[in-house]
Amino acid sequence: MPIALPDLSTVLDEAVKDFTASNPKSKAINDESVACLPGGTTRNVIHMKPFPIVQARGEGSYLTDVDGHKYLDLCAEYSACMFGHSHGTIKKAIYDAVDNTGFALGAVNQYEGRLARLFCERFKTMDKVRFSNSGTETNMTALALVKAYTGRSKIIVFEGGCHGGLATFSSQSSMNMKSSGKRTMNAPHDWIVVPYNDIPALQTAVAEHTPDLACIFLELMQGSSGCTPANADFVKACRSLATAAGAVLFFDEVMTSRMSIHGYQHLLGVYPDMTSLGKYFAGGGQNFGAFGGRADIMNMLEPGYSSPCPSGGGGVYHSGTFNNNVTTMATATAVLEQLWTTEDKAKDLFDKGVWLREELNRLAAKHRARMNVTGTGSLMAVHFFTTGANGGGGRDGNAGAEAEVEVEDEALKELFFFDMLGKGFFLARRLMISLMTITSREELRTFVQAVDESLSERAEFVGLDYS
Ligand code: PMP
Repeated sequence: MPIALPDLSTVLDEAVKDFTASNPKSKAINDESVACLPGGTTRNVIHMKPFPIVQARGEGSYLTDVDGHKYLDLCAEYSACMFGHSHGTIKKAIYDAVDNTGFALGAVNQYEGRLARLFCERFKTMDKVRFSNSGTETNMTALALVKAYTGRSKIIVFEGGCHGGLATFSSQSSMNMKSSGKRTMNAPHDWIVVPYNDIPALQTAVAEHTPDLACIFLELMQGSSGCTPANADFVKACRSLATAAGAVLFFDEVMTSRMSIHGYQHLLGVYPDMTSLGKYFAGGGQNFGAFGGRADIMNMLEPGYSSPCPSGGGGVYHSGTFNNNVTTMATATAVLEQLWTTEDKAKDLFDKGVWLREELNRLAAKHRARMNVTGTGSLMAVHFFTTGANGGGGRDGNAGAEAEVEVEDEALKELFFFDMLGKGFFLARRLMISLMTITSREELRTFVQAVDESLSERAEFVGLDYS
């Protein structure tokens, strides 16, 4: 006898109703702000239905919202808050900089050169580096530089890639969006969008566009679209094809650089010509972006640059009022000198993520659930599928496996999100998890237990045996 399925949309409606009833202050703030602020937030990614939660305070691994609920924070500001909230070292760096230096000086300050040296020592592919205000800005600036350097205009990117609000190639559903399908916010570059982890497709694209190919631009694990690691052979193919085509290989390590203190490129052993960084380097306390790479490319930013570059063009002007913002420079210096100092720290964080992902995929197998957790090291995403099996098929961090993503079940994802909120765990709405260095395995075990309970409680929706 087939088992009759209860109605998922009714259960989801109830979850939304419960959420609304228990978050009256968040609702009131949102009701007021939507009149002037689309969606009640200035970041679409943090919007959620029926309204976004308003967090009141972050301390250590926890967030407390305006209605007084406390959450173990597994979102960690989408990976920027990697050292935990209100970290003493970060706070001190900010306060000291303000006390001793001030805010913005309209001049070179004492931090920026020292910080640049720290980055160049860390990243062997960075002969020189420049700073900016975000990952998006950094990528946009560096791409313009690469185009000027090569004198070519085409940029190969990959389906599912996210390089910030002006260069996103993921499906809109992974961004919690309904849309016309057009990527209208993307910068008007000459993008060539190729399937990720698909070497033959990449070979074809490179062959077709070689004379005008400026660069191959990729994430080593696609973060925002669902934590899909690059296959190691694919990354190597990117390297050799870029070299053969006379194009620049550009790694967006805004998210993935945390896999090692020298970036994920160091673990993979494949090195780019240009790298972009962002997120956690200013501890989540300040805006941050950086791009750096080969001296012959970066030298185009030298004032008075006159050497010939492949394009035969002149130098490139890069400036920005807050590029050397005092508190950002000071905070990032403190992070590199005091917090993110040795490889064992990066390995601890990486291993904690591998362990958590294995635990979650073990639960998927135990419950025969239509759930799968993908990712690399301390970055991962929980998926629920409408069809097909994948209990226990988690992918690990060594860029080994192909993506196996089937059709995501958005309703199940939403239900899981509300279930986790109700149990005291704050994930990114798209079910991305980003671990902090300070979150303990004991704390994470409480999350594993909550997922175990949830998969039991929702067995009729998530269990393969019920479909
Ligand atoms: N690159 C990657 C890989 C990212 O994940 C993001 C942010 N999600 C960005 C760039 C853009 O960074 P920001 O949000 O600081 O502009």
